[in-house]
Amino acid sequence: MALYAELHRHLGGSVVPRVLWRYFQRSQPDSASPFADYEAFEEFYTRPRNTLDEYLELHTLVEKVQTAETLPYFIFRLMRGAYVFENLAYLELRYTPYLRTPEHLSQTERIELMASIVQVVGQASQLDEYPIVNSQILCMHSRLPYAVNRAIVELAAQMPQYVCGIDLAGGDNHYGERMSEYIELYDYARSLGINTTGHLYETPDGCHPELLPYLMRIGHGIQIPLQHPELLPELAQRGQCLEVCPTTYLKTGTLQDLQQLKIVFDRCFEAGVDIAICTDNAGLHNMRLPFEYESLLTQDIISFQQLQACQEAAFRHAFAWKYQQRPESILNKILHPQLDLVRS
Ligand SMILES: [Zn+2]
Repeated sequence: MALYAELHRHLGGSVVPRVLWRYFQRSQPDSASPFADYEAFEEFYTRPRNTLDEYLELHTLVEKVQTAETLPYFIFRLMRGAYVFENLAYLELRYTPYLRTPEHLSQTERIELMASIVQVVGQASQLDEYPIVNSQILCMHSRLPYAVNRAIVELAAQMPQYVCGIDLAGGDNHYGERMSEYIELYDYARSLGINTTGHLYETPDGCHPELLPYLMRIGHGIQIPLQHPELLPELAQRGQCLEVCPTTYLKTGTLQDLQQLKIVFDRCFEAGVDIAICTDNAGLHNMRLPFEYESLLTQDIISFQQLQACQEAAFRHAFAWKYQQRPESILNKILHPQLDLVRS
């Protein structure tokens, strides 16, 4: 059994359509009623969007139903699916804790509640029957004010037992005017010893070189090899890894054809820049990590050797790899229950 590491997956986008549909039917019939049947809902939920903004709008649908009370329901199903269908050994789940707090509360009250959300997510994802080593990445968000984003950074520093890093989300085409703010927040995060990744160079309008030095990994970053390959040597020197999520670019209209990714992989391999292949929003895409691998292989975008290199890179760049464990030791932890079964 091969075991994989997933570094870029959103908690909101991880809910597979069937699970969300059942949840609506059971608990929020009003949300299910506009759709004639499950197929109509699935079509709406998973169809490609024209732009990244339109695509991100879908997240709000799921964010609203993921509250402190319902999160364990969704996370249990997420971990079960990731273990049984995707053979994940390691998972970093990312989300914006502020957006899981009740909207009617004040900003201060919502900030205070974020720690309990992190705890709920952390406890719900520790499941003996689906023993995936996992941790959380807290996302700052381009739609949220500075004070909230700063509180997210501080929360990451305060809860290392559950949180392994921070991210910046909300569409990389919206960072422009507030760039100095984000640089300051990332600089602050690094001073606190927090691991950093950020959605950047995903779209042609999201190329912000000034933010690059603060990131240990780059969320997407595909526009670097596509449009700015001159930056690749710097990335290699800093040991930065791209989190490439193939299906996303088709769903957001960023790429028209997966073949366009061939140049991304080829240029990165040539420059010595690591790539981790990820799903981003496995639920929204109706996609699983092994299928992302298979589709890149069957379309001749990467070779088997390149696939293996990307799979190893994912373990090497995992943030919760605090003790520099070798992949074997983490695999042993996962495999032991199975080996015991065989022996008994
Ligand atoms: Zn993402």
